[in-house]
Amino acid sequence: MSVKIATLFPEMFPGHLGLSLAGKALEKGIWSLETINPRYYATDLHKTVDDAPFGGGAGMVMKADILSNALEAHQPLGRFIYMTPRGKPLTQALAQELAKEPMLTVLCGRYEGVDERLLEAYNAEEVSLGDYVLSGGEQAAMIMLDAIIRLLPEVIGNANTHAEESFHNGLLEYPHYTRPADWVSPDGQLRRIPDVLASGHHAKVREWRLAQSETVTAARRPDLWEKYKKTK
Ligand code: SAM
Repeated sequence: MSVKIATLFPEMFPGHLGLSLAGKALEKGIWSLETINPRYYATDLHKTVDDAPFGGGAGMVMKADILSNALEAHQPLGRFIYMTPRGKPLTQALAQELAKEPMLTVLCGRYEGVDERLLEAYNAEEVSLGDYVLSGGEQAAMIMLDAIIRLLPEVIGNANTHAEESFHNGLLEYPHYTRPADWVSPDGQLRRIPDVLASGHHAKVREWRLAQSETVTAARRPDLWEKYKKTK
């Protein structure tokens, strides 16, 4: 997958995407990264990329003409995404869909955001990380890309990993345990793993995990639980 990031802060990349799973995948060429700095395409002496909003109000707005110059110089763009709190929420389903794309270009906003005409002209798909306001789209883009890259073929060795993760089947994941089977926590309490996990009975383990997933989802995410019950 070829990824292009339009950002006023290219030095933020690859950031954490250069480490661990995503970093190894970048080294192996499973995905590639190119940054696009709109400032290089500014036409005045001061390299201006933003201006005051028409109609007044706080903050500055990223200029459509300069952003467009930058994007045109890096065609083709593939699927074009603008990170914004006004966008559709990033979900595992969207990450799975985006992981199938050969090319993505992600526009990271700063200041109050981007001139709306640029978003219209490039038919931008608007994606939000959640109902809060970050200072820039870079962090949002990195998190979205992390969710996408780990889904690319060969990034995670065991293909079954995804099938059991949270959201894959509409449920949150079941709890995990590892050695030692008996652990005394600092408050003096002996904490044992659930017996079924040491039973060696695979069908029973699967049944227990599904029941746990259902219990956790019903308790923590009534919205997901309602959807899951309908599709079941
Ligand atoms: N004025 C904007 C608003 O109220 O929706 C917020 C602008 S924010 C300070 C600057 C940039 O950060 C945005 O243009 C966007 O690219 C990015 N950003 C902030 N919060 C985000 C979120 N929840 N999801 C995705 N991107 C976000």
